[in-house]
Amino acid sequence: MASLSLRNITKTYAGGFTAVKDFNLEIEDKEFIIFVGPSGCGKSTTLRMIAGLEEISEGELYIDDQLMNDVVPKDRDIAMVFQNYALYPHMTVFENMAFGLKLRKVPKDEIKRKVTEAAQILGIEHLLDRKPKALSGGQRQRVALGRAIVRNPKVFLMDEPLSNLDAKLRVQMRTEIGKLHKKLETTFIYVTHDQTEAMTMGSRIVVMKDGIIQQVDTPSNLYLYPCNVFVAGFIGSPQMNFINVTVDCKPEGTYLKSGDFSVKLPDGKGKKAEVQAYNGKEVLMGIRPEDLYDDEAFISTVPECTTEVDIGLTEMMGAETFLYFQIAGVDVTARVNPRTTAKHGDHIKIALDANKIHLFDKETENVII
Ligand code: ATP
Repeated sequence: MASLSLRNITKTYAGGFTAVKDFNLEIEDKEFIIFVGPSGCGKSTTLRMIAGLEEISEGELYIDDQLMNDVVPKDRDIAMVFQNYALYPHMTVFENMAFGLKLRKVPKDEIKRKVTEAAQILGIEHLLDRKPKALSGGQRQRVALGRAIVRNPKVFLMDEPLSNLDAKLRVQMRTEIGKLHKKLETTFIYVTHDQTEAMTMGSRIVVMKDGIIQQVDTPSNLYLYPCNVFVAGFIGSPQMNFINVTVDCKPEGTYLKSGDFSVKLPDGKGKKAEVQAYNGKEVLMGIRPEDLYDDEAFISTVPECTTEVDIGLTEMMGAETFLYFQIAGVDVTARVNPRTTAKHGDHIKIALDANKIHLFDKETENVII
């Protein structure tokens, strides 16, 4: 069992800089939770406070209802895997994995059993006699994981463990860490600045910015229902398009306008009191690239959600094609079917799926609908 409770946690470094502000989070036993956000947003600081490597300035950390603020790292029953693996170069893989157990005076045959078992889980039994310098990056990362596994900790903390690996290996290791989580049935807390990694690995994601939690949710809820402009722009690649528009509520429906551009909201959205309250005001409209269409079949069904654009660039990606153009003077990306005939210089119609439009308040940047 390992549930964690972070209550009003704040970290102010010696120089007076507050890296984490009033962080509140309940982590359930066996959860795979991800901290994601741009560089410097306080992810590692939070993880290090959980590990006990950084003092908590304010607030409380509980693990299984036990207050941990003043418990030293080695007594927290937590294992941490770092980005740089932190393996001892002069020791073999076996010795590296056994090191922590040896320090704890675990009997020799038990160490052997545990190391062999972990090596089997990770598929590195054949490497046990090698030194780290004779391993590939992926193998080193497995050894670092193995060293954590043998300790059988209550909680696994991982700080960007895959960032030193090449793109292909990173994708492979993502799946392996996911499988490892299922196999070990332990609580995992994983830090990354890579939103794709976050979206594919975690059961819940904590999005952070400037030391403050922006949203905590499942990957699909973060994608479909971002709570503010930051989350909307951070989650998803290519990122959501944003266009400044004015809300125009007419008896026949609600329109979003900017210059020649106009799109009618479906009544289910447009008649909402939240939207009507912005009548005559500017808001930020968000629409994801895949919610823009260039095919005639879709365009003909939504004449009031169609606009004309000049294609600047097209990028054929294989399973999809990206079209780049401007709407209302703003750069916009559409993700369309690769069979599109649109090419640079074409003047074409583009339709928006208005059901998928997000609106944000310009000042607070919070979602309206
Ligand atoms: P990255 O993805 O780059 O590792 P992060 O989100 O993990 O970033 P942290 O390492 O937690 O960010 O750092 C958060 C902020 O705290 C940064 O602005 C950083 O410069 C600052 N910081 C980190 N350690 C210290 C320290 N020992 N003293 C003062 N400021 C620090």
